[in-house]
Amino acid sequence: MPIRVLISHESTAIPCEKCGYPTLHVAHLVTPEGQCIGRKLVCTLCQERESQEQEAPEKLPAG
Ligand SMILES: [Zn+2]
Repeated sequence: MPIRVLISHESTAIPCEKCGYPTLHVAHLVTPEGQCIGRKLVCTLCQERESQEQEAPEKLPAG
């Protein structure tokens, strides 16, 4: 079952060690039943970059 990662935007953003921007948030891991099973630190900027990298098509060398 997919576990949702809900980012609490009310929490204070923490500087991210990876990108250096203060976009690190505390996210709650929530099951489909709505039960919170834990917390996780998620950087919204790094998350965006990762998803973009995954979606980006592979570039083939020209010629
Ligand atoms: Zn980051």
